[in-house]
Amino acid sequence: MTAKSIQVQDGSITGSLSGEAYRQAARSWLAANLPASFRSDSTAFVPPTLEQAAAWEAALYRAGLAGITWPTAYGGHGRTLREHLIANQEIGALPIPESVNSIGKELAGPIILAVGTEAQKQRFLPAILDMSNIWCQGFSEPEAGSDLAGLRTRAVRDGHIWRVNGQKIWTSGAYRAQRCLLLARTGPVEDRHRGLALFAVPLDAAGVRVRTIKSIDGKENFCEVFFDNVEVAQEDALGAPDEGWAAAIRVLAIERATNRMYRAWRFENELRHLVAACKADPILAELVQERHYAARLAETLVDIEVLKAHVETAVDALVAGESIGARGSLAKLHWSETHQRFAALALELLSKASLPLRPAVRVAQRRFEGLYLHSRAETIYAGTTEIQLGIIADRILELSRGK
Ligand SMILES: Cc1cc2nc3c(=O)[nH]c(=O)nc-3n(C[C@H](O)[C@H](O)[C@H](O)COP(=O)(O)OP(=O)(O)OC[C@H]3O[C@@H](n4cnc5c(N)ncnc54)[C@H](O)[C@@H]3O)c2cc1C
Repeated sequence: MTAKSIQVQDGSITGSLSGEAYRQAARSWLAANLPASFRSDSTAFVPPTLEQAAAWEAALYRAGLAGITWPTAYGGHGRTLREHLIANQEIGALPIPESVNSIGKELAGPIILAVGTEAQKQRFLPAILDMSNIWCQGFSEPEAGSDLAGLRTRAVRDGHIWRVNGQKIWTSGAYRAQRCLLLARTGPVEDRHRGLALFAVPLDAAGVRVRTIKSIDGKENFCEVFFDNVEVAQEDALGAPDEGWAAAIRVLAIERATNRMYRAWRFENELRHLVAACKADPILAELVQERHYAARLAETLVDIEVLKAHVETAVDALVAGESIGARGSLAKLHWSETHQRFAALALELLSKASLPLRPAVRVAQRRFEGLYLHSRAETIYAGTTEIQLGIIADRILELSRGK
């Protein structure tokens, strides 16, 4: 299909476009609709408010750029995973803030599609896409992060309802969420992987308390969530009461393999921004030509190309009906380590800029200082580097444990 056959009607991408035509339609919609103030590589950048971010994401959905693979019966666009990848590449290439509902769209939605009842799919999925329901992920607890099998938040059946008691921690974005994808214990703690269940808990239920935690970047996105005798309706239980572990592992596999598919393209945008900012400054322009920095920048680009290959291979495997399994750990390990190295390199370079700072350098410093602080967490969430290495040794190399 040629670019001439692109259909962008009433602000949305329609028809059975595929491949390059879909890419062109996505690109032209984004170019026409992205607010200039969202661009973190510009002097005009102002972080969007929650309302602005939600409105932008709802517009992306209406345009056909979110909910891409979800069935039309649940508000999705019924397109293919390859088109999902194309949209991610185009959105990823833009220097814009992260989604405020990625947990809803990328973790809760897919697991509801996999294990939810028909009524749950009808109730939850369209509300995620139109941004009327933002979700958070309530897995980690003070004594159960890497070892989720040790979690203690308990859900006890009481007639037609469940009663939930316990505490979650590091729950990103809980303060702004309407629902929590909660992993809770329904059997004895000694049962470890057995007797766990997933719930879609409304955060305005009586007995739920959310407290924010300030992180190193000064933001208060992390939360502690306390559940004090919270009544959860049976219709909010996701899947069978003792099959929560299998569902949680599925969520984590998505989180490590195909969640935020745009990452490599975003990293590429960051790298190009850094190089452009350096070229705008006489000292930095010379530095990036030197062998040491030229080599480190080139290595970053190679790492990004490897990341793209990880994502494209994963999409090929999924389209062919294969599971990604432990290979998601290779990608998780690689993107988190690559990004941390890049963020450190960006700050190191920018700290050597000439004074007074050029506007282009000031913009880059603001962007990459935030990125550096946030990147410290990337080797922790979705499974720490040590946990990924353990999974690779155990399940891919099949080495014996404890040797
Ligand atoms: C930015 C960010 C966002 C997050 N968002 C969420 C969220 O939205 N929802 C949510 O539920 N959780 C969230 N988390 C929590 C995250 O999933 C946990 O921090 C992570 O699983 C690690 O658990 P922990 O902090 O309890 O550390 P621990 O599990 O206590 O680990 C401490 C150290 O011991 C090492 N270790 C532990 N076990 C092993 C082992 N078997 N072999 C080798 N080394 C080991 C770890 O690698 C680590 O270095 C988030 C975390 C961060 C940083």
